[in-house]
Amino acid sequence: MTGETYEILALKYADLNNRTRADNFLDPGDDHDSLMPMDYFLWVLKSDRRTIVVDTGFDKIEGARRGRDVMMNPTEALTSIGIDSRSIEDVVITHMHYDHAGTLGDFPNARVYVQDSEVQFCTGRAMLDGSERMAYTADHVKDLIDKVFNEQVSFIDGDEEIAPNVSLHRVPGHTAGMQCLRVKTKRGWTVLASDAAHYFENWKDRNPFSICWSMDDMFKSFDRIEELADSAEHVVPGHDPIVRSIYPAVSRDLPLVTRLDVMPDWTLA
Ligand SMILES: [Zn+2]
Repeated sequence: MTGETYEILALKYADLNNRTRADNFLDPGDDHDSLMPMDYFLWVLKSDRRTIVVDTGFDKIEGARRGRDVMMNPTEALTSIGIDSRSIEDVVITHMHYDHAGTLGDFPNARVYVQDSEVQFCTGRAMLDGSERMAYTADHVKDLIDKVFNEQVSFIDGDEEIAPNVSLHRVPGHTAGMQCLRVKTKRGWTVLASDAAHYFENWKDRNPFSICWSMDDMFKSFDRIEELADSAEHVVPGHDPIVRSIYPAVSRDLPLVTRLDVMPDWTLA
């Protein structure tokens, strides 16, 4: 393969271990009471030339408010791999839910890439509805608006390449303006699905996650993430703890940092 390639790191900073399958599927089936924990990640793309942060997570204050155990703030997770959030110039926000779009204030020098439709959704009439609003935090949305007024937001409408061999693709369903990333790695084109597929099971079994803005779009987006990736082994879901089993830790000292630019080993699942 030619051209710029990227290392992809998943940084786990929080989890929620008392979730059940009923929390994670529209149709949990008979097995609805068994535990199905959730991991929370941000991601970092690194090439010889650039570092791109994907999602900014949520901090301990937001975690306490929502009953999520935050082991470290997203900025601390970045510090653990030698990155100062203030030095970051490019941040992709996959969607504006609280667990993906908090802490934007810690990235004062970053340009933010977000879909038009997501910003319209989280600033518009949908937010008058409590169930639509639940996973958004007004302060996170306000931080994004500050970025708009600082001319630090690039609005994406559908599909766009934002750096060599890194493109964004609208994959609605979970939210109106959900987007995934397609990234060239040494092992091929890899898709960071974020919440287009929370868990492998949501996507592989075509069983959508419980928060579903449009079922019809969700199913189309399952197909889309498959098309964008070199193979099913190149699709990485947004919240699945299995990711940390089948992909290797970046080093023994950093067990919460996982490398996604190598092939997964499902015998370890
Ligand atoms: Zn999420």
